[in-house]
Amino acid sequence: MSSEPQTSDVVVIGGGPGGYVAAIRAAQLGLRTVCVESAATLGGTCVNIGCIPSKALLQSSEQFEFARLHAHEHGISIEGLRVDLGQMLRRKDEIVAQNTRGVEFLFRKHKVTWLKGFGTLRAGNVVDVSLADGSQTQVRAPHVIIATGSVPIDLPFLRFDEQRILSNAGALLIPEVPSHLVVIGGGVIGLELGSVWRRLGAKVSVVEMLPAILPGTDDDVVKEADRVFRRQGLEFHTSSRVTGAEVANERIAIAIERDGQTRTLDASHVLVAIGRKPSLGGIDAAALGLELGPRGEIKVNDRMQTNLPGVFAIGDATGGKLLAHKAEEEGVVAAEVIAGHQSRMHYHSIPSVVYTWPEIATVGLTEREVRESGREYKTGRYPFSANGRARTIGETSGFVKFVADARTDELLGCHMIGPNVSELISEIVLAFEYRGASEDIGITVHAHPTLSEATKEAALGVLGRSIHI
Ligand SMILES: Cc1cc2nc3c(=O)[nH]c(=O)nc-3n(C[C@H](O)[C@H](O)[C@H](O)COP(=O)(O)OP(=O)(O)OC[C@H]3O[C@@H](n4cnc5c(N)ncnc54)[C@H](O)[C@@H]3O)c2cc1C
Repeated sequence: MSSEPQTSDVVVIGGGPGGYVAAIRAAQLGLRTVCVESAATLGGTCVNIGCIPSKALLQSSEQFEFARLHAHEHGISIEGLRVDLGQMLRRKDEIVAQNTRGVEFLFRKHKVTWLKGFGTLRAGNVVDVSLADGSQTQVRAPHVIIATGSVPIDLPFLRFDEQRILSNAGALLIPEVPSHLVVIGGGVIGLELGSVWRRLGAKVSVVEMLPAILPGTDDDVVKEADRVFRRQGLEFHTSSRVTGAEVANERIAIAIERDGQTRTLDASHVLVAIGRKPSLGGIDAAALGLELGPRGEIKVNDRMQTNLPGVFAIGDATGGKLLAHKAEEEGVVAAEVIAGHQSRMHYHSIPSVVYTWPEIATVGLTEREVRESGREYKTGRYPFSANGRARTIGETSGFVKFVADARTDELLGCHMIGPNVSELISEIVLAFEYRGASEDIGITVHAHPTLSEATKEAALGVLGRSIHI
C-alpha cells in the first residue's frame, strides 16, 4: 500500500541528536521539515541506548558506592543496604522515556513531521519511506540531511546476542549483576559501563589492545585514571589482544594474548566496546555516487555538505568525534546553511567527557600533540587535593591541567580529572571559543569555595603564580 508522495523543504533521515536538532532548527528557520526515524522512539542512540541511560545507571551506581563506602565518613550509617536492580533499571527506563517524549513534544511544538519508518535515499533527493504500519510513502525535498548515526562494531568470534555477548544496548539491560564482566576496549563506553557493573558488585576486567586505557587522552590524565580505577577494583589488561572466544555452559572463555603469551579469562558476560562505525542503512553510497572517507564515513565540508547537490550529512555518520553535542552542532550548521546563512562548523572547541568517578573532561590538544607539533608551550596544573570544596565533598583525586602557547599564552588544551569536571569544562570551552589565554581564566574571580577555583589556580600555574599551592 503506497500513500501519495509528499514534498517538503527539508527531509532529515534519522532522529538522533544530530537529526532531531537539525529538524528543529530547520523548522525554527521557517522550513517545512520532515524527519524520518525508524525506531519506535525519537532521540537515537544517545537518548535510547547511549548517553542518557548510561548516565542514569552511573548516577544510581555512584549513589550505591557512596552509601557503601563513604556515607560513614559523614557520620551516616546505613543498615541493610542492598541493590534493587529491577528498580534501578526501571528508573533508567523512565528517564529515557521522559527524554524521548521530550523530543516528540519539541517536534510538535516546532511543527516537524515525524515519519515513523525506514528511509531509503534515492537519486534526486527523493526518500522512499517504509512506514512502521507496513505502508510505503515517498518524500521529495530540495534538501536532505543524512543523520543515520553509527552502530557498534562486533568481533567475528563474538557476535552480539545481547544476553551474554553485549553491545552498549545489552549492557544497559543486564537483569542480574554479572559475576565476571569482561569489557573488550578500554575507551569511554567500556570504562563507563564497566564502572556501573563494578560498583554494583561484578568483577570487571578490561582488555585493551593499546598500552594504556583511554586512547587519545592526555598522558597525565590517563596515568591518574589508571591508578584510581585500579584502586577502585577495575582490572586492566593493557597491550593485550583478544584472539578468540568459546561460549559454553553460560560461560565465555576469552583468549587474550600479551607479549606472545596467551591466557584465558572466564567471563559470565562480555561487553564488546571496540568502537563504532557509520550506519549507512538506507544510504547506498555507491549507487548514489556519495563520497565516503576511509572508514566508511560520509565526507562533508565545513558546511556539512556532501558531494551530492542538496545532500548534507551530520553526526556519527560523518565520523570524527562520536559525540552527541558534536552531532547537534553539525545539525544546526546544516539547517542554517540550507536556510541561506553563512554558518560553518569548526572543531576547535568540542569538549569530551568520560562520566566515570572521578570524571574526565578535556578540550583542545593534549600536551603530547602540542609537543609533537613543535610549538613552544607551558603547562599549569592544580590538584583537587588542594581545593577546599573538593575536601568538603570528600573527593580529592585528580587535577586540572592547562597547556598554553609559551609566547602568546593562548589556551591550547585543558585536561581535567576530578569531581564534577563535566560541569567545569564549559567555562574553558567558552574561553577556547574566544581564543582566550590562561591569564583570562587566572584573573577571573571564581566563587569560593568551589571546585572551579582549581581551574583558576591551574591557569595561574601556567603563569607561575598559583596562590594556594
Ligand atoms: C553507551 C554510549 C554512551 C554514550 N554517551 C555519550 C555521552 O555521554 N555524551 C556524548 O556526547 N555522546 C555519547 N555517546 C555518543 C552519542 O550517543 C552519539 O554520538 C550520538 O547519538 C550521535 O548522534 P547521531 O544523531 O549522529 O546518531 P544516532 O544517535 O545514532 O541516531 C541515528 C538515528 O537514525 C536512525 N536511522 C538510521 N538509519 C535510518 C534510516 N535509513 N531511516 C530511518 N531512520 C534511520 C536510527 O534509528 C537512529 O535513531 C554515547 C554512545 C554510547 C553508545
